[in-house]
Amino acid sequence: MHIAYKFRIYPNPEQQILITKTLGACRFIWNQMLSDKIAHYESTKEMLYNTPARYKEAFSFLNEVDSLALANRQLHLERAFKSFFSKQTSFPNFQARKKDYGYTTNIVNGNIKVLDGFIKLPKLGLVKLKKHRHIPEDYKLRSVTVSKSKTGKYYISILLDYETVISPCEVKTTIGLDFDMTNFYVDSEGNRYAYPESILLDQQKLRRLQSSLSRRYQPNKKQKDQSKNYFKQQHKVAILHERITNKRLDFLHKLSDSIAKTSDSVSIETLDLKQMATSNKHYAKQISRFGWYKFITLLEYKLNRLGKTLVKIDKWYPSSKMCSRCGHLKTELKLSERIYSCEHCRQNMDRDYNAAVNIRNKGLELLKVENLA
Ligand SMILES: [Zn+2]
Repeated sequence: MHIAYKFRIYPNPEQQILITKTLGACRFIWNQMLSDKIAHYESTKEMLYNTPARYKEAFSFLNEVDSLALANRQLHLERAFKSFFSKQTSFPNFQARKKDYGYTTNIVNGNIKVLDGFIKLPKLGLVKLKKHRHIPEDYKLRSVTVSKSKTGKYYISILLDYETVISPCEVKTTIGLDFDMTNFYVDSEGNRYAYPESILLDQQKLRRLQSSLSRRYQPNKKQKDQSKNYFKQQHKVAILHERITNKRLDFLHKLSDSIAKTSDSVSIETLDLKQMATSNKHYAKQISRFGWYKFITLLEYKLNRLGKTLVKIDKWYPSSKMCSRCGHLKTELKLSERIYSCEHCRQNMDRDYNAAVNIRNKGLELLKVENLA
């Protein structure tokens, strides 16, 4: 199994320059190799296997940066190009400076070491590190990704390998979750889990800032005086965006942690985002705004770590249209109908609660566990 830990780092000015240079070199090598690959493909219809070494003589600045970072970018490009090759879609994209997200380096002969308050990285040397969580001694370091956020903060993400024996957990408690547009989800006990108000308010504020920014005249860099406010506003948007991302991830981590600890099995409905994006835009937007997919990924990973299962229910399963009490199936249920009232057994139940119970029951059926309260 592997796990990634993210820490903030505080490179000194020289190290900051080298990080920027490395990011630039990675982008450069990607773009150079890609354009050569495309040219080769267009004349021969074959794939060109080129390596960064080929470019180092002509572009000597490539020698100044971590060669493993360049090698990783090459592997990444190769994968992207191969997928273009097999699927015959469009070529991989050229990389732009504003999308510099980070570079990855690997451990070779002790070139990377996590020390007390520092991390030793290739070419950079010792970089100050804020280690807010402990890394167990038996975890093996595999690679490190160095990144710079849009607001100018630096981070590392450390990928670690660890060995573990997980014994399957006996299923005693189970729960079904149904995505809810206004809250976050409704569970099969009838509880509504509300999304944190502060994140929703921040998101509203971000939308306001973004739309006011897009309405503004976009200055070019020569018009320094006029553009001051524009770039100030742009920076504000980036800071808020980062804050929302962090807060949301923190919330999703805590919530998935607590569900994984208290339930032995969780059932959830898979939603078809692509189809929804055309049929119900508002719904699809809310799913991505809430980070529902990230939540499912975290939840599954945390359950598996404890020997537990996340049961994914097929999107065609009629969780909303079926009565959770008698199994009667409605032919139609409008989105506006918030109460499920069964023509057959006369049960009236909150629509999402009813769906969550169905999801739980279907999950149990799939797990072949019976007689659970
Ligand atoms: Zn019924």
